[in-house]
Amino acid sequence: MAPVEGQYLDNIDPSTGETYGRIPRSQQSDVNLAVSAAKDAFPAWSSLSIQERSLWLMKISDAIHDKLDVLALAESKDNGKPLKLATAVDIPRARDNFKFYATAILHDSYDVHDMGSSGFNYTLRQPIGVAGCISPWNLPLYLFSWKIAPALAAGNTVVAKPSEVTPATAYLLCEILDEIHFPKGVLNIVHGLGSEVGAAIVAHEDTNIISFTGGTQTGKAISSVAAPMFKKISLELGGKNANVIFDDCDFEDAVNTSVRSAFANQGQICLCGSRIYIQQGIYDKFKTAFLERVAGLTIADPLLEESRMGAIVSRDHMNKVLSYIELAKEEGGKLLIGGQQVKLEGRCANGYFIAPTVFENLSSTCRTNQEEIFGPVVTLTPFETEKEALELANSTPYGLAATIWTSDLKTAHRMAGQLHAGIIWVNCWLLRDLRTPFGGMKQSGVGREGGFEALRFFTEPKNICIKI
Ligand code: NDP
Repeated sequence: MAPVEGQYLDNIDPSTGETYGRIPRSQQSDVNLAVSAAKDAFPAWSSLSIQERSLWLMKISDAIHDKLDVLALAESKDNGKPLKLATAVDIPRARDNFKFYATAILHDSYDVHDMGSSGFNYTLRQPIGVAGCISPWNLPLYLFSWKIAPALAAGNTVVAKPSEVTPATAYLLCEILDEIHFPKGVLNIVHGLGSEVGAAIVAHEDTNIISFTGGTQTGKAISSVAAPMFKKISLELGGKNANVIFDDCDFEDAVNTSVRSAFANQGQICLCGSRIYIQQGIYDKFKTAFLERVAGLTIADPLLEESRMGAIVSRDHMNKVLSYIELAKEEGGKLLIGGQQVKLEGRCANGYFIAPTVFENLSSTCRTNQEEIFGPVVTLTPFETEKEALELANSTPYGLAATIWTSDLKTAHRMAGQLHAGIIWVNCWLLRDLRTPFGGMKQSGVGREGGFEALRFFTEPKNICIKI
């Protein structure tokens, strides 16, 4: 549907710097229409049996599977990520998110609390109404579906906004909804700017529940509007994740996985490890091996098979990352590799590419080590003891994820118990089981997504107490 006020935004391919499409610059009036449609659709959708809702979600999942190549190409072009990554990770994961919640609701159950001879309680979990879902640009369809799927599965209707920087796959999802004749008004996707459409969704009196993934500052702004309206809020925010590597780790695995966790998706994954702490005994050996692997990462046109590092998502974001590289130098960091924009030949000559960048000699309190850069920039820092590693890892206001590399189970358990992070990986990274809770502590967020946690978030518990 065209935007009511007829305004559009350019959509840019970050690998070429060229505008290749337009998206609606929707406004409050469009959000009003979407919320009204969602409100009208709620009674019918929420009264479907779980088997019927499950079937609808499976149809979406199957359609994503059938269009995997088209969606992956669109994601790569829109975001700048290697096509190989979009094909292997982003789109399969979006498909699996719908499938997971399509089946999860079939196996969900409610709590009963028995009071013996006095009575018993059972707790219903009922859908809430219209859910507002707002997602970022780094894993566009993957994160969009991570909210939409549980919201719909739980029986809510949805008004959702993708990032205006990466709207393409959300648009293609609308086409899928049309093709499978998905019930009108149940899922409404509104394109536009965060400050306009996003803010209007959050402030609308009929969006009863807000699920947001994005930056910590935006999360604060959203809370300040939604909390006084007593909306249910889930916030998945920024991170500044630590990789803690002990002397006794499996060296090859630790190096290879640390390179991947530092630079996958150009370092633009909230779970990327950007502070790498290495125990003194292997510091020099690790540094040498790490830099060798980083030098071998191919920065290339995202559409090429050999591309391991694609484009940064936008010119603005590229400039932000480059300004952090300058800051790291000003703060006394020693540049070990990278540190500059990369100019490619041919089709991508005007694209936004940055070389994978590694610094050392930076204090744990400097801005480079405290603030989220969200790009291909990491720091290496040595540590002596477990206690020191813990203090360093816990020294930022964030608490999203951490990785621990050791062959001593006791060290792993002690560290895992004390690290300030909602997600901890031992001797691995990004190994995901969709049933597990996902999210961060401190300034990395409020609430958890994933598994049955998300179904709980998108429902209202109602306890019924019966006297015998
Ligand atoms: P932003 O916070 O800038 O934007 C996220 C979404 O919110 C976008 O759709 C944006 O729209 C919208 N938005 C912006 N302002 C408002 C507002 N006032 N009200 C409502 N919506 C608004 O984040 P980015 O898109 O830059 O994404 C990067 C951030 O996301 C990083 O900090 C990263 O760590 C975090 N993130 C966290 C994850 C987690 O699970 N914890 C996972 C992935 C990313 P628009 O694009 O139009 O501005």
